[in-house]
Amino acid sequence: MVDAPEGSPTSDGQTTPSHALGEGPADAAQGNRELADRPLNPGSMAHPQVCRRPCVFFQAGHCENGDNCGYCHMRHDNRTPLPDRRQRAFLRKLRRTELLHIFLPRLRSQAKRAGILSRAVPVVTILEGALIEQGTLNTAKVTCDDADYLRVLLNRMSFGNLMAMLFHNLGPSTLVDTARHEFESLRQSLPSHG
Ligand SMILES: [Zn+2]
Ligand SMILES: [Zn+2]
Repeated sequence: MVDAPEGSPTSDGQTTPSHALGEGPADAAQGNRELADRPLNPGSMAHPQVCRRPCVFFQAGHCENGDNCGYCHMRHDNRTPLPDRRQRAFLRKLRRTELLHIFLPRLRSQAKRAGILSRAVPVVTILEGALIEQGTLNTAKVTCDDADYLRVLLNRMSFGNLMAMLFHNLGPSTLVDTARHEFESLRQSLPSHG
């Protein structure tokens, strides 16, 4: 029996075989075993693809939240890219549909790059659904210098970073609750590689 049958409905059917390599270790049984061997704090789950931002306290030597910490305690070689003032101001101005329109293509490409596209489809589909539902697929298109400048940042962010930033900027809503729930399932389905 195979974990992911070839007929499974993924949208990455046209990718080159090399993309499938990243999916190899993401075997459910192996993931559960690794999680059982070493308890992980919530923020470190699914490191490195979709873990949370690295914990500054842990990096400085001690994190009081320990096993309950919502930030990643695993090793990160690259700093998490953060928005600067101009990017933060622009993000605040964007409407929900505009945010989705900017973030969704990046979420897809980063999931593909991390080899988790098939697992990311449920959460991405929920977010895409919200965009299509409102019939604003084209009118939500954002083209300006600020948008281009923001995309430079987004292109450097991981799938998990992008999700966290999108949820934060969308603000509390049923859509975010549903998507967040699906995203947590995704995180828990991935093993962690220290
Ligand atoms: Zn991490
Ligand atoms: Zn911590």
